[in-house]
Amino acid sequence: MFEADVQNVTQQAATGAVPAGNRVREVISEAHQRYAEHTDGQVADYIPILAHADPNWYGISLVDVSGKSFSVGDSQIEFSIQSISKAFIFALVCQELGHEVMHQRIGVNNTGLPFNSVMAMELNDGSPMNSMVNAGALATSALIPGRTTAEQWENIRIGLSRFAGRSLELDGEVYQSEMKTNFRNKAIARLLESYARIDIDPLEVVDIYTRQCSLRVTSTDLAVMGATLADGGVNPLTGEQVVGSEVARDTLALLASCGLYERSGEWLFEIGLPAKSGVSGGMVAIAPGKGALGLYSPPLDSAGNSVRSQRACAYLSRALGLNLFASSAYQSAKG
Ligand code: GLN
Repeated sequence: MFEADVQNVTQQAATGAVPAGNRVREVISEAHQRYAEHTDGQVADYIPILAHADPNWYGISLVDVSGKSFSVGDSQIEFSIQSISKAFIFALVCQELGHEVMHQRIGVNNTGLPFNSVMAMELNDGSPMNSMVNAGALATSALIPGRTTAEQWENIRIGLSRFAGRSLELDGEVYQSEMKTNFRNKAIARLLESYARIDIDPLEVVDIYTRQCSLRVTSTDLAVMGATLADGGVNPLTGEQVVGSEVARDTLALLASCGLYERSGEWLFEIGLPAKSGVSGGMVAIAPGKGALGLYSPPLDSAGNSVRSQRACAYLSRALGLNLFASSAYQSAKG
Protein backbone atom coordinates (compact mmCIF):
# COMPACT_ATOMS: atom_id res chain seq x y z
CA MET A 1 0.00 0.00 0.00
CA PHE A 2 2.77 2.48 0.86
CA GLU A 3 4.86 0.92 -1.90
CA ALA A 4 2.32 2.03 -4.51
CA ASP A 5 2.94 5.60 -3.45
CA VAL A 6 6.68 5.44 -4.06
CA GLN A 7 7.03 2.95 -6.89
CA ASN A 8 8.63 5.45 -9.24
CA VAL A 9 11.29 6.35 -6.65
CA THR A 10 14.48 4.39 -7.41
CA GLN A 11 15.09 1.74 -4.74
CA GLN A 12 18.63 2.34 -3.50
CA ALA A 13 20.32 -0.75 -2.06
CA ALA A 14 21.22 -0.69 1.64
CA THR A 15 24.91 0.20 1.66
CA GLY A 16 27.25 1.23 4.49
CA ALA A 17 26.19 4.78 5.38
CA VAL A 18 23.50 7.38 4.76
CA PRO A 19 24.24 9.41 1.61
CA ALA A 20 26.16 12.71 1.79
CA GLY A 21 24.64 15.66 3.65
CA ASN A 22 23.38 17.56 0.61
CA ARG A 23 21.54 14.56 -0.69
CA VAL A 24 19.92 13.88 2.71
CA ARG A 25 18.80 17.50 2.97
CA GLU A 26 17.27 17.35 -0.49
CA VAL A 27 15.52 14.02 0.08
CA ILE A 28 13.99 14.88 3.46
CA SER A 29 12.68 18.16 2.02
CA GLU A 30 11.12 16.19 -0.83
CA ALA A 31 9.57 13.73 1.64
CA HIS A 32 8.12 16.64 3.58
CA GLN A 33 6.70 18.39 0.53
CA ARG A 34 5.30 15.23 -0.97
CA TYR A 35 2.92 14.55 1.92
CA ALA A 36 2.41 18.00 3.50
CA GLU A 37 -0.98 18.43 1.80
CA HIS A 38 -2.24 14.91 2.63
CA THR A 39 -5.18 14.93 4.98
CA ASP A 40 -5.77 11.21 5.67
CA GLY A 41 -6.07 9.98 9.25
CA GLN A 42 -7.61 11.15 12.51
CA VAL A 43 -5.94 12.92 15.43
CA ALA A 44 -6.23 10.71 18.57
CA ASP A 45 -8.84 11.83 21.08
CA TYR A 46 -9.17 8.95 23.54
CA ILE A 47 -6.66 10.90 25.64
CA PRO A 48 -8.69 14.15 25.50
CA ILE A 49 -5.81 16.63 25.37
CA LEU A 50 -4.24 14.97 22.32
CA ALA A 51 -7.26 16.13 20.27
CA HIS A 52 -5.91 19.71 20.56
CA ALA A 53 -3.03 18.90 18.20
CA ASP A 54 -3.06 20.67 14.83
CA PRO A 55 -3.43 18.04 12.06
CA ASN A 56 -1.08 20.11 9.88
CA TRP A 57 1.92 19.79 12.19
CA TYR A 58 4.54 17.81 10.33
CA GLY A 59 8.24 17.47 11.10
CA ILE A 60 10.96 15.15 9.85
CA SER A 61 14.46 14.76 11.31
CA LEU A 62 17.36 12.48 10.50
CA VAL A 63 20.39 11.99 12.74
CA ASP A 64 23.22 9.79 11.55
CA VAL A 65 25.71 7.84 13.65
CA SER A 66 28.37 10.51 13.16
CA GLY A 67 26.02 12.96 14.93
CA LYS A 68 25.00 14.96 11.85
CA SER A 69 21.46 16.19 12.14
CA PHE A 70 19.00 17.29 9.43
CA SER A 71 15.46 18.56 9.95
CA VAL A 72 12.58 19.95 7.97
CA GLY A 73 9.15 21.33 8.95
CA ASP A 74 7.86 21.34 12.54
CA SER A 75 10.88 19.60 14.05
CA GLN A 76 10.91 21.90 17.08
CA ILE A 77 7.33 21.26 18.24
CA GLU A 78 7.24 19.24 21.45
CA PHE A 79 4.70 16.44 21.83
CA SER A 80 4.28 13.53 24.26
CA ILE A 81 6.41 10.52 23.37
CA GLN A 82 3.59 8.02 24.16
CA SER A 83 4.26 4.45 23.02
CA ILE A 84 7.64 5.30 21.49
CA SER A 85 8.90 5.31 25.10
CA LYS A 86 8.27 1.54 25.20
CA ALA A 87 11.22 0.89 22.89
CA PHE A 88 13.66 2.72 25.15
CA ILE A 89 12.22 1.34 28.39
CA PHE A 90 12.68 -2.15 26.94
CA ALA A 91 16.33 -1.26 26.24
CA LEU A 92 16.92 0.07 29.78
CA VAL A 93 15.35 -2.98 31.43
CA CYS A 94 17.08 -5.40 29.06
CA GLN A 95 20.36 -3.71 30.01
CA GLU A 96 19.62 -4.47 33.69
CA LEU A 97 18.12 -7.93 33.42
CA GLY A 98 19.47 -9.35 30.16
CA HIS A 99 18.23 -10.92 26.94
CA GLU A 100 17.05 -14.18 28.50
CA VAL A 101 14.93 -12.63 31.23
CA MET A 102 13.18 -10.34 28.74
CA HIS A 103 12.50 -13.30 26.49
CA GLN A 104 11.12 -15.52 29.25
CA ARG A 105 9.42 -13.03 31.52
CA ILE A 106 7.84 -10.59 29.05
CA GLY A 107 8.02 -12.29 25.64
CA VAL A 108 9.10 -11.20 22.16
CA ASN A 109 6.32 -12.34 19.83
CA ASN A 110 3.78 -10.19 18.03
CA THR A 111 0.20 -10.43 19.32
CA GLY A 112 -1.48 -9.71 15.96
CA LEU A 113 -3.91 -7.64 18.05
CA PRO A 114 -4.26 -3.93 18.87
CA PHE A 115 -1.82 -2.26 21.28
CA ASN A 116 -4.25 -2.16 24.21
CA SER A 117 -5.65 -5.66 23.79
CA VAL A 118 -6.74 -7.62 26.86
CA MET A 119 -7.57 -10.61 24.69
CA ALA A 120 -3.91 -11.18 23.74
CA MET A 121 -3.08 -11.94 27.37
CA GLU A 122 -6.15 -14.06 27.93
CA LEU A 123 -5.34 -16.20 24.90
CA ASN A 124 -1.73 -16.71 26.03
CA ASP A 125 -1.93 -17.83 29.69
CA GLY A 126 -1.58 -14.27 30.94
CA SER A 127 1.66 -13.59 29.09
CA PRO A 128 2.26 -9.86 28.60
CA MET A 129 3.48 -10.95 25.09
CA ASN A 130 6.01 -8.23 24.25
CA SER A 131 7.21 -4.87 25.58
CA MET A 132 5.70 -2.87 22.69
CA VAL A 133 2.03 -3.50 23.54
CA ASN A 134 0.50 -2.02 26.67
CA ALA A 135 0.40 -5.23 28.75
CA GLY A 136 4.08 -5.94 28.09
CA ALA A 137 5.04 -2.29 28.45
CA LEU A 138 3.38 -2.08 31.87
CA ALA A 139 5.12 -5.29 32.96
CA THR A 140 8.45 -3.92 31.64
CA SER A 141 8.13 -0.53 33.36
CA ALA A 142 7.45 -2.42 36.61
CA LEU A 143 10.98 -3.91 36.27
CA ILE A 144 12.78 -0.53 36.09
CA PRO A 145 15.21 -0.37 39.04
CA GLY A 146 14.26 1.70 42.10
CA ARG A 147 13.24 1.10 45.73
CA THR A 148 10.07 3.18 45.33
CA THR A 149 7.93 4.08 42.34
CA ALA A 150 9.17 7.67 42.70
CA GLU A 151 12.72 6.37 42.25
CA GLN A 152 11.62 4.20 39.32
CA TRP A 153 10.03 7.22 37.64
CA GLU A 154 13.21 9.26 38.09
CA ASN A 155 15.24 6.39 36.58
CA ILE A 156 12.86 6.31 33.61
CA ARG A 157 13.15 10.06 33.06
CA ILE A 158 16.93 10.03 33.36
CA GLY A 159 17.26 6.90 31.20
CA LEU A 160 15.17 8.30 28.34
CA SER A 161 16.99 11.64 28.64
CA ARG A 162 20.32 9.84 28.11
CA PHE A 163 18.97 8.45 24.85
CA ALA A 164 17.87 11.96 23.80
CA GLY A 165 21.07 13.66 24.95
CA ARG A 166 19.11 16.31 26.86
CA SER A 167 16.89 16.45 29.92
CA LEU A 168 13.34 15.41 28.97
CA GLU A 169 10.47 16.84 31.02
CA LEU A 170 6.99 15.66 31.89
CA ASP A 171 4.01 17.26 30.15
CA GLY A 172 1.79 17.59 33.21
CA GLU A 173 -1.37 18.30 31.20
CA VAL A 174 -0.98 15.19 29.06
CA TYR A 175 -0.27 13.09 32.16
CA GLN A 176 -3.38 14.42 33.98
CA SER A 177 -5.55 13.99 30.91
CA GLU A 178 -4.50 10.37 30.44
CA MET A 179 -4.76 9.53 34.16
CA LYS A 180 -8.42 10.60 34.09
CA THR A 181 -9.27 8.32 31.19
CA ASN A 182 -6.91 5.31 31.31
CA PHE A 183 -9.40 2.79 32.72
CA ARG A 184 -8.30 0.20 30.23
CA ASN A 185 -4.62 0.40 31.22
CA LYS A 186 -5.68 0.08 34.86
CA ALA A 187 -7.67 -3.04 33.92
CA ILE A 188 -4.66 -4.49 32.08
CA ALA A 189 -2.45 -3.83 35.13
CA ARG A 190 -4.98 -5.61 37.39
CA LEU A 191 -5.00 -8.52 34.99
CA LEU A 192 -1.18 -8.63 35.10
CA GLU A 193 -1.47 -8.73 38.89
CA SER A 194 -3.99 -11.57 38.72
CA TYR A 195 -1.52 -13.59 36.63
CA ALA A 196 1.30 -12.69 39.05
CA ARG A 197 3.16 -10.90 36.24
CA ILE A 198 3.98 -7.77 38.26
CA ASP A 199 5.38 -7.48 41.78
CA ILE A 200 4.38 -3.90 42.54
CA ASP A 201 1.02 -2.22 43.01
CA PRO A 202 -0.81 -2.20 39.64
CA LEU A 203 -2.03 1.38 39.97
CA GLU A 204 1.50 2.56 40.71
CA VAL A 205 2.74 0.78 37.59
CA VAL A 206 0.06 2.56 35.55
CA ASP A 207 1.18 5.83 37.10
CA ILE A 208 4.86 5.48 36.10
CA TYR A 209 3.90 4.14 32.68
CA THR A 210 1.59 7.12 32.08
CA ARG A 211 4.35 9.51 33.14
CA GLN A 212 6.83 7.85 30.79
CA CYS A 213 4.31 8.28 27.92
CA SER A 214 3.92 11.98 28.83
CA LEU A 215 7.58 12.97 28.40
CA ARG A 216 7.93 15.78 25.87
CA VAL A 217 10.08 15.24 22.77
CA THR A 218 10.58 16.72 19.29
CA SER A 219 11.14 14.81 16.05
CA THR A 220 14.83 15.65 16.44
CA ASP A 221 14.89 14.06 19.91
CA LEU A 222 13.34 10.91 18.45
CA ALA A 223 15.99 10.82 15.73
CA VAL A 224 18.78 11.13 18.33
CA MET A 225 17.20 8.43 20.49
CA GLY A 226 16.88 6.14 17.47
CA ALA A 227 20.40 6.94 16.28
CA THR A 228 21.65 5.74 19.69
CA LEU A 229 20.13 2.32 18.94
CA ALA A 230 21.64 2.48 15.42
CA ASP A 231 25.07 3.21 16.91
CA GLY A 232 25.60 0.18 19.15
CA GLY A 233 23.92 1.95 22.10
CA VAL A 234 26.21 5.03 21.99
CA ASN A 235 24.49 8.41 21.73
CA PRO A 236 26.15 10.00 18.66
CA LEU A 237 25.76 13.52 20.08
CA THR A 238 27.00 13.01 23.64
CA GLY A 239 29.27 10.00 23.04
CA GLU A 240 27.68 8.30 26.06
CA GLN A 241 27.21 4.52 26.02
CA VAL A 242 23.55 4.44 27.05
CA VAL A 243 23.03 0.67 26.63
CA GLY A 244 25.27 -2.12 25.37
CA SER A 245 25.47 -3.01 21.69
CA GLU A 246 23.70 -6.34 22.25
CA VAL A 247 20.83 -4.57 23.98
CA ALA A 248 20.58 -2.12 21.05
CA ARG A 249 20.46 -5.13 18.71
CA ASP A 250 17.75 -6.87 20.78
CA THR A 251 15.66 -3.71 20.88
CA LEU A 252 15.79 -3.32 17.11
CA ALA A 253 14.81 -6.97 16.58
CA LEU A 254 11.77 -6.43 18.78
CA LEU A 255 10.84 -3.21 16.97
CA ALA A 256 11.03 -5.00 13.64
CA SER A 257 8.51 -7.63 14.73
CA CYS A 258 6.27 -5.65 17.12
CA GLY A 259 6.91 -1.89 16.74
CA LEU A 260 3.78 -1.16 14.69
CA TYR A 261 1.52 -3.55 16.59
CA GLU A 262 -0.73 -5.64 14.34
CA ARG A 263 0.61 -3.77 11.29
CA SER A 264 4.23 -4.75 11.94
CA GLY A 265 4.40 -7.38 9.18
CA GLU A 266 2.95 -5.02 6.62
CA TRP A 267 5.31 -2.27 7.75
CA LEU A 268 8.40 -4.46 7.39
CA PHE A 269 7.22 -5.64 3.99
CA GLU A 270 6.66 -2.07 2.79
CA ILE A 271 9.42 -0.10 4.53
CA GLY A 272 11.95 -2.62 5.82
CA LEU A 273 13.10 -0.87 9.01
CA PRO A 274 12.65 -1.42 12.76
CA ALA A 275 10.36 1.37 13.98
CA LYS A 276 8.04 2.49 16.76
CA SER A 277 5.01 4.74 16.66
CA GLY A 278 2.92 6.54 19.27
CA VAL A 279 -0.63 7.92 19.43
CA SER A 280 0.42 11.55 19.55
CA GLY A 281 1.72 11.07 15.98
CA GLY A 282 5.42 10.51 16.58
CA MET A 283 7.48 7.82 14.93
CA VAL A 284 11.08 6.64 15.02
CA ALA A 285 12.57 4.41 12.31
CA ILE A 286 16.09 3.06 12.69
CA ALA A 287 18.68 2.04 10.10
CA PRO A 288 21.23 -0.03 12.09
CA GLY A 289 24.78 1.26 11.68
CA LYS A 290 23.55 4.34 9.81
CA GLY A 291 21.17 6.52 11.80
CA ALA A 292 17.51 7.14 12.48
CA LEU A 293 14.50 9.12 11.35
CA GLY A 294 12.27 10.95 13.81
CA LEU A 295 8.89 12.05 12.48
CA TYR A 296 5.85 13.86 13.77
CA SER A 297 2.39 14.32 12.28
CA PRO A 298 -0.71 13.83 14.48
CA PRO A 299 -3.31 12.22 12.14
CA LEU A 300 -3.35 8.42 12.66
CA ASP A 301 -4.58 5.33 10.83
CA SER A 302 -6.94 2.86 12.50
CA ALA A 303 -4.06 1.01 14.24
CA GLY A 304 -2.85 4.27 15.83
CA ASN A 305 0.14 4.91 13.54
CA SER A 306 0.82 8.38 12.04
CA VAL A 307 -0.21 8.37 8.38
CA ARG A 308 2.17 11.04 7.05
CA SER A 309 5.05 9.65 9.08
CA GLN A 310 4.56 6.21 7.57
CA ARG A 311 4.36 7.62 4.05
CA ALA A 312 7.43 9.77 4.53
CA CYS A 313 9.34 6.76 5.91
CA ALA A 314 8.39 4.69 2.87
CA TYR A 315 9.79 7.40 0.63
CA LEU A 316 12.93 7.97 2.69
CA SER A 317 13.69 4.29 3.17
CA ARG A 318 13.66 3.86 -0.57
CA ALA A 319 15.40 7.04 -1.66
CA LEU A 320 18.13 6.91 1.00
CA GLY A 321 18.79 3.16 0.69
CA LEU A 322 17.71 2.40 4.27
CA ASN A 323 15.52 -0.69 3.69
CA LEU A 324 17.40 -3.52 5.46
CA PHE A 325 16.38 -6.06 2.87
CA ALA A 326 17.33 -4.19 -0.31
CA SER A 327 20.47 -5.57 -1.94
CA SER A 328 21.85 -5.23 -5.44
CA ALA A 329 23.58 -8.05 -7.32
CA TYR A 330 27.28 -8.55 -6.57
CA GLN A 331 28.01 -9.26 -10.25
CA SER A 332 26.39 -6.07 -11.51
CA ALA A 333 28.29 -4.01 -8.92
CA LYS A 334 31.57 -5.56 -10.13
CA GLY A 335 30.81 -5.03 -13.81
N1 GLN B 1 -0.22 6.25 26.67
C1 GLN B 1 -0.87 5.58 25.58
C2 GLN B 1 -1.72 4.43 26.08
O1 GLN B 1 -1.30 3.69 26.90
C3 GLN B 1 0.16 5.09 24.60
C4 GLN B 1 -0.43 4.32 23.46
C5 GLN B 1 0.24 4.53 22.14
O2 GLN B 1 1.01 5.48 21.93
N2 GLN B 1 -0.09 3.66 21.22
O3 GLN B 1 -2.83 4.25 25.65
